Amino acid sequence: MVARLFFSSLDNRLHGKANAVMEFLMSIHNSRKHCGDLFCGKCGIAREILENISDSDKQIIHEILSSISIYELTDFGVFEPLIHRIDAKGYISVFQRAAKEINSGNIRDIDFFLHMTRSRLRKKFENFIENFPDILRRGTELAITTKDYSLVETVILILEEEAQKYPELISTAREYAQNDQQMQRVLYNTLRRIRPEMRNFAGKTN
Ligand SMILES: [Zn+2]
Repeated sequence: MVARLFFSSLDNRLHGKANAVMEFLMSIHNSRKHCGDLFCGKCGIAREILENISDSDKQIIHEILSSISIYELTDFGVFEPLIHRIDAKGYISVFQRAAKEINSGNIRDIDFFLHMTRSRLRKKFENFIENFPDILRRGTELAITTKDYSLVETVILILEEEAQKYPELISTAREYAQNDQQMQRVLYNTLRRIRPEMRNFAGKTN
């Protein structure tokens, strides 16, 4: 069997169609030189794709989004923001399914879900994902009890100044920040306004 490079959870029928859609996207992307920013108005790659994509390809994208896991969203690669543009409802449904099915004991699932929600949906997630506050609360608990580096970082980035309600979370982050520039940046960027001592990290971040 040929190794599947992306969308490994799709059945054979849909996987074949997904390949064809990805090939169409790549064909435009690779057809000429451009700066690399899909949405650059001068190069116009996103515009060309949006003008040329067929209704049946849009339908296939909708079927893919109705079926894949949140982990597989990144299989769209550079095209992921464009997929969000083409089918916003379908795109958000991936997050809504993940939120419903999340295993509240699985740190990696919770961390990935929270990270993706923040980075892809920005602040809009509150409107789309009903149980987001429950998942964030569970993530915060797990970050405190396990001191998992990645989860500590993720929940502080989401909580922003609210993070100071959890002193154990902040003290864990500060321990990491002693020797870690990434965590220094996280604390400086989220808390410097209300916790002046975090400004000490500014000089260390270069
Ligand atoms: Zn450009």
